[in-house]
Amino acid sequence: MANAAIVGINWGDEGKGRMVDLLTQDYDIVIRYQGGGNAGHTVINEHGKFALHLLPSGIFRSGVVNILGNGVALDPENLWLEMQEVIAKGVPLTPENLKISDRASLLLPWHRALDGLEEARLADKKFGSTKQGIAPFYSDKYSKKTVLAGELLHPEHLKEHLKDLLDWKNLTLTKVYGADPVTMEDLESWLDTYCEKIKPYICDTGVFLRKAQAEGKKILFEAQLGALRDLDYGIHPYTTSSNAIAAYAPVGSGLPSAKIDEVIGVVKAYSTCVGEGPFVCEMFGSEADALREAGFEYGAKTGRPRRVGPIDIVATRYGVQVQAATNIALTKLDVLSYLEKIPICARYLVDGKETDEFPFPAVLASAQPVMEYMDGWKCDISGVRRWEDLPEAARKYVEYIEGQIGCHIGYVSVGPERDSIIIR
Ligand code: GDP
Repeated sequence: MANAAIVGINWGDEGKGRMVDLLTQDYDIVIRYQGGGNAGHTVINEHGKFALHLLPSGIFRSGVVNILGNGVALDPENLWLEMQEVIAKGVPLTPENLKISDRASLLLPWHRALDGLEEARLADKKFGSTKQGIAPFYSDKYSKKTVLAGELLHPEHLKEHLKDLLDWKNLTLTKVYGADPVTMEDLESWLDTYCEKIKPYICDTGVFLRKAQAEGKKILFEAQLGALRDLDYGIHPYTTSSNAIAAYAPVGSGLPSAKIDEVIGVVKAYSTCVGEGPFVCEMFGSEADALREAGFEYGAKTGRPRRVGPIDIVATRYGVQVQAATNIALTKLDVLSYLEKIPICARYLVDGKETDEFPFPAVLASAQPVMEYMDGWKCDISGVRRWEDLPEAARKYVEYIEGQIGCHIGYVSVGPERDSIIIR
């Protein structure tokens, strides 16, 4: 296995963190290439249980170099708080095992404030943002109105740049939203409290990566969220504000020449979705409550109950296609063990016609699920480690999904722990 990307096929929260944590044993470098502190990659290992928001999930492996690429929304406050949590659990973080791209843009203190102000203005039309400032951040990045992490290493230049941005952003804060302005003192305190702490980790990661590439080092690209939240290919406008798909990994990682040999798409054995927007296969009532409880489906970042449903074959097949997945990790199969019959959203009904194709976003709201049911297995499978030891009904379910989505399922996860995995 040479370079690989681990990406989400669905709405996010598929269990990417646990897969990166497992697979990092085979890689030299792990890079987060997009997104920001709105992620919550859950990792359970010998150090404890973590919900990683910004740190790459390879941070627990000694000898692995972890990189925050230029494509991430680098929030110094979130990052520093998270670094301290990880250090407190005995995981060493040094400029050797954690590197921050000098070309990553900084999420500035006003981005979080603007996220909350805009969601409040939208009221019942809100997007369901995690209010981590991600949308205002990426808007400003593409308007060239943010600061690069590398500017922290050039303080005189930085002060001037921040001052210009401050004058401009205060117009929006005060005149559009009627909020309090941010002051230069606020920014100085933010610089001292958070930015100073992460400075030692900032470097030209491009130089490091090009050298590593020449030496044949193995690189793992870690995505945040899933295909259906991708800015260009997801359910617009209920997407995130960056490109979560594997095709963006070379650009957002700092290694545009990287060839990705394998794209491991993570699919949950059922569906979950956080936030607003169409969710065709959504379950309600006691059926939904039972699945939510069985899978403990509450947001890693916000604690919000996740919307739940059966696996959505139409959306999953589309996710596999836009991710160009070459291998699938099916997670949380153990969660379905309580069900007599396993529900499946096999197709959609759109304008009275059944379809296998994922519709245009505006059409999704009127799509209806076409359901099928398979036999459940009704026994605990969390201790199973070999494919042939899975009950036949569970194997049939996995094989059915594989046939429908057109991609090999090479990993079946039956528990959150590192070794709760069946490799096929
Ligand atoms: P990510 O953002 O894609 O990394 O996913 P999250 O961390 O938000 O959500 C995945 C959740 O499922 C976490 O709580 C994991 O510990 C848990 N998990 C992952 N794989 C499995 C599995 O196979 N079985 C069970 N029961 N839990 C799992």
